[in-house]
Amino acid sequence: MREKLLALAALQKVDVEVAALKKNAEAYPKEIGEFEKQLAAAKAAVDAERTKLEELERQRVTLEHTVVEEKDKVKKWEARLTEQRSTREYSALAREIDIAKKGQQTMSEEITELGRQATIQREVVRTKDGEFQDKSKGLLEKIGALKEKLAAAEASVRALDGSREAAAKSVDGSLLKRYDVVRKKRMPALAALVPPGVCKGCGMNVRAQLYNTLVASKGFDTCPSCSRIVYAQEVLEEPATK
Ligand SMILES: [Zn+2]
Repeated sequence: MREKLLALAALQKVDVEVAALKKNAEAYPKEIGEFEKQLAAAKAAVDAERTKLEELERQRVTLEHTVVEEKDKVKKWEARLTEQRSTREYSALAREIDIAKKGQQTMSEEITELGRQATIQREVVRTKDGEFQDKSKGLLEKIGALKEKLAAAEASVRALDGSREAAAKSVDGSLLKRYDVVRKKRMPALAALVPPGVCKGCGMNVRAQLYNTLVASKGFDTCPSCSRIVYAQEVLEEPATK
């Protein structure tokens, strides 16, 4: 009987280790996700500044094209000016040319202003990008370290799964079934009774007679209170040679 208990206690030891490892490993994906979110937010902030810069440059290029077109138009009008026969037609066209030139002037000023804003914005992008590079370096290192820890924990769990299989083979079949049923509801599923008869699993008192019986039989029973598999603590504490 004692050998059955020893085998089951060994199995439970592995199960407790696996449960602790899995609990630890569960935290890693959440932490990784949190850092990845921070990384994405930092990148989005730089991208937003870069988009502003692109918009300023796009506006400037559009205006520059418009100015070129306007200049061509005015050149054609100026050529036509000499062909005007009446003074009225001449002065009407001259006025159009004057208005167009003023428009060009306004656009040139806007181009200069857009260029000025783009220079400032380029500096903003440069600064923010520098900050992002620094921040992302730290975040990527943290993410990398966590991924390594996660992989290590998963490898340990796999290794322990192997140990569990081996440990389970040594446990008596019907006892293993009982253990697995209890294990799904509460861990540890195997609990010691300490004199005069307190279940270490639930802390409740059981009949002292049960304790004495288990000392004598070196066997196991069910805790009436929590349904754990219980044994007398001194049975597993005594040296195996006895
Ligand atoms: Zn109990």
